[in-house]
Amino acid sequence: MLFEKAQQLLESHFGYSSFRNGQELAIQSVLAGENTICVMPTGGGKSICYQIPAIVLPGTTIVISPLISLMKDQVDALVQVGIPATFINSSLNYNEANQRIWEAKQGMYKLLYIAPERLDSREFIEDLKQMDIPLVAVDEAHCISQWGHDFRPSYRHIQQMVRSLPQKPNVIALTATATPRVREDICETLNIEEENSIITGFERENLTFSVIKGQDRLHFVRDYLKKNEKEAGIIYAATRKNVDQLYERLKKENINVARYHAGMGDAERISEQDRFLKDEASVMVATSAFGMGIDKSNIRYVLHFQLPKNMESYYQEAGRAGRDGLESECILLYSSQDVQVQRFLIDQSSDRSRIHAELEKLQQMVDYCHTENCLQEFILKYFGETETETCGRCGNCLDSRSSNDVTKEAQMVMSCIIRMGQRFGKTLTAQVLTGSKNKKVTEMGFDKLTTYGIMKEKGSKEVSDFIEFLISQELIAIEQGQFPTIFVSPKGKDVLLGKEQVHRRETVKVREISKDDP
Ligand code: ADP
Repeated sequence: MLFEKAQQLLESHFGYSSFRNGQELAIQSVLAGENTICVMPTGGGKSICYQIPAIVLPGTTIVISPLISLMKDQVDALVQVGIPATFINSSLNYNEANQRIWEAKQGMYKLLYIAPERLDSREFIEDLKQMDIPLVAVDEAHCISQWGHDFRPSYRHIQQMVRSLPQKPNVIALTATATPRVREDICETLNIEEENSIITGFERENLTFSVIKGQDRLHFVRDYLKKNEKEAGIIYAATRKNVDQLYERLKKENINVARYHAGMGDAERISEQDRFLKDEASVMVATSAFGMGIDKSNIRYVLHFQLPKNMESYYQEAGRAGRDGLESECILLYSSQDVQVQRFLIDQSSDRSRIHAELEKLQQMVDYCHTENCLQEFILKYFGETETETCGRCGNCLDSRSSNDVTKEAQMVMSCIIRMGQRFGKTLTAQVLTGSKNKKVTEMGFDKLTTYGIMKEKGSKEVSDFIEFLISQELIAIEQGQFPTIFVSPKGKDVLLGKEQVHRRETVKVREISKDDP
């Protein structure tokens, strides 16, 4: 009965003829009174999973969302189709907030959006107790977990709030980016049974992933933009300075480019965003600050000029391509120097207790850049999918270079790591293997090892890349810390013992990255 109403609402209020994958199950589960978790990719249609139950159920549904800038848009869209909704966040003054709380207590709203920080206030919890709340929707639910990529302490208060309400509401948690560990954490914290997990496939069949290594990035971008002049696309860069430099460069080439980062004034940022949304500028150069809640469907490519900090961010940003279902490209331009930049940023910005987890996530991002297996499959496995297949269309699937047996080189590297005591980093190991006369090498007596200089015909950068490749193959593992150290994994030991072989595609000749590369 309730579900029939849900179906009617889909058409009458939202104007859609059918549910998308997962929406129906999520709504059914919520209407059956179950706490539910809904994991869907960005753009998968999560909002409806709580908005429709909110309309069907009596009372006011509370929506907790950290994305303050999106609340107003969401609320406006609901009000426009005749659903009474409002929000309370730091953009309102005291009187405005109080007025809305009062109205909510009178039952004037079907949905009330709040920022998580509200839950830190006892007074606000008392206000909630005077409302009739059938459902609490927790958007961006990965913020609950220390293992997520965006932990927010206020999210830890949600369950306390839910328990304190006189009529205990149901909970629906929604996220686009939960690894199995984060998912478990969400379910445990919010008391959600595992069987009430609705997880839709993360595969985006119209996206083609590739990683470009060892090329002059600016050169690559210029060529790419020339070839795709008529298409809309985003180029993500790591820092504000990178954005400004790249923007200036491209402008000089007469490319119709816009830019966006948090260091710009509000007015300029909004007008730049508008130019891109209205197709007046075809390319947007931006930091990761750009894109949340942007619903531009015809983005044909997303280029990453630098390495993002983790797979969650990468997939979210790359996933902004091809929302219309048409074929689109996601290209990451990799240079090993970027790993240092990201390490530095993690070290500067994170809460000390999270550094280790963030460095591990960064390493998985680096592994993505070095794997020779299917890139789409790598992503799906990262997000916990088990029944995966190779996509047949990514840069690695289409790579026609032949494979070489590199077992012997892998054994050289691993036996050197073992001889060095498995407590040093990649760079020093590469120096020992290439026979460097570096002071640290001689001071430690590593020039006396039998593995000293056994790869001296190669450059230390080449050996370093090879070590990264062995890490991506899980033959070598990393112990994260201020100075990451490498050691041989059980799988690596099998290679050392000659039980397994290692193959690697022929490497391309590395072209120098230009010095003034932004
Ligand atoms: P998410 O929160 O998962 O990123 P949204 O809820 O913002 O996604 O939905 C993404 C887009 O898909 C929106 O433009 C929305 O209007 C549209 N959408 C959602 N559900 C449906 C549906 N059943 N049929 C067609 N379009 C839908």
